[in-house]
Amino acid sequence: MAKKAFIEQGLGKPPWFMRMGLNFQHMVFKFSRIPGMARRHPWVREDKTDMRFLPINQDISRPEDCPMPLELLDRLIEEASHCVIVDFCGCRMGYECEDYPHDIGCLLMGDSALEVPATVGREVGKEEAKEHARKAIDVGLVPIVGRAHVDNFIFGVKDRGCLLTVCFCCECCSITRFIGEIPYTYVDPAYPRLKGVSVEVTGDCRGCGTCAEHCFVHAIELVNNKAVIGEYCRACGRCASACPNGAITVRITDRDFLEDAYQRIRAHVRYD
Ligand code: SF4
Ligand code: SF4
Ligand code: SF4
Repeated sequence: MAKKAFIEQGLGKPPWFMRMGLNFQHMVFKFSRIPGMARRHPWVREDKTDMRFLPINQDISRPEDCPMPLELLDRLIEEASHCVIVDFCGCRMGYECEDYPHDIGCLLMGDSALEVPATVGREVGKEEAKEHARKAIDVGLVPIVGRAHVDNFIFGVKDRGCLLTVCFCCECCSITRFIGEIPYTYVDPAYPRLKGVSVEVTGDCRGCGTCAEHCFVHAIELVNNKAVIGEYCRACGRCASACPNGAITVRITDRDFLEDAYQRIRAHVRYD
């Protein structure tokens, strides 16, 4: 499927390691549904995967002088030794996404990003890396940032702990599809929520269900005609943007909320 999409977009045949990586993803999705198998997947081992969703909402309520979540992304770009942009999104192409652009792919950072073949990614300066991120965010894609061991397979890069991934995700992202499939015990260690960010449904909820349709990890249920957010929630804020009644709030309660994420990401990924 991914190969056909590549060729249709005029990108030619994807390199063998990407074909293998994408096919591998599809295979492990199915494999992970077998009881007891999910924990063997590198996407749920916290020593291999440690990624956070960054809410892109403009109206996050927060203490005075508290940074916005996206400032973490800017900081990581500023400090990165190298930034590489992938100008296609294998997930959206592979799943034939109809809602978001296929030409906005991952941003890869760190020393190992330079090993990504030139047919797949191109090195850019920090301003262009930030511009790529802004373009993705402007169309509504949500960044997931951190260490993703699977990208070493997909991008054909040796795993030396020097590759930081920023995925710009939608419903067609392999990561979000995967999170929605696996038992919760595996979700939290590898995809922790940003600490100090809360997402709450207020009394203005009218039970329309729009938020549930937009939650790509299926964390929202309607109970007695009201939205209820469950434990799978990764605090991405997407439901709050989608609610027509403004009935979901994203709130930062701890002004140091980014520091924990920053320290954990930097501990996993050396890139300077
Ligand atoms: S990880 Fe995200 S940006 Fe990268 S290919 Fe998948 S959906 Fe696209
Ligand atoms: S979109 Fe808003 S109003 Fe509709 S169910 Fe969700 S929270 Fe309630
Ligand atoms: S419930 Fe809302 S904030 Fe939580 S993961 Fe779903 S869309 Fe994101």
